[in-house]
Amino acid sequence: MPIDATLPYDETNVFARILRGEIPARRVYEDEHALAFHDLNPQAPVHILVIPKGAYVSWDDFSERAPDAEIAGFVRAIGHVARAQGLVAPGYRLLANAGMNSGQEVPHLHIHLFGGCPLGPMLAR
Ligand code: 5GP
Repeated sequence: MPIDATLPYDETNVFARILRGEIPARRVYEDEHALAFHDLNPQAPVHILVIPKGAYVSWDDFSERAPDAEIAGFVRAIGHVARAQGLVAPGYRLLANAGMNSGQEVPHLHIHLFGGCPLGPMLAR
């Protein structure tokens, strides 16, 4: 079910639980500001989710409220993960769903990092 990204942050969401170590994830990177782990249902040979450690519902929430250091740290972490996965030369795609029309399901900001094959058109038609 797509979420209403204007609702307050829900501390029980699945990515909050992964951050707290309450449920497992195949982690690939972690630093002060970000955590990256493999998506449970990958939609490409490489499908990694990168999340900020702070409690932000969506890109909208993050871009409005996060301190500059968290924004910089998060953006750099995404770039780091893409490089570490060897995705720069072959190319990759970043995607962030935000709110109902996008189909966002987990109400904690996450960037999808796709790679490992030609990824096709940007949007399904
Ligand atoms: P959204 O539709 O919100 O942009 O994407 C949510 C993503 O989270 C989906 O690709 C889904 O497969 C992934 N996901 C949902 N629950 C879990 C989980 O418990 N662990 C992991 N690793 N990924 C999850």
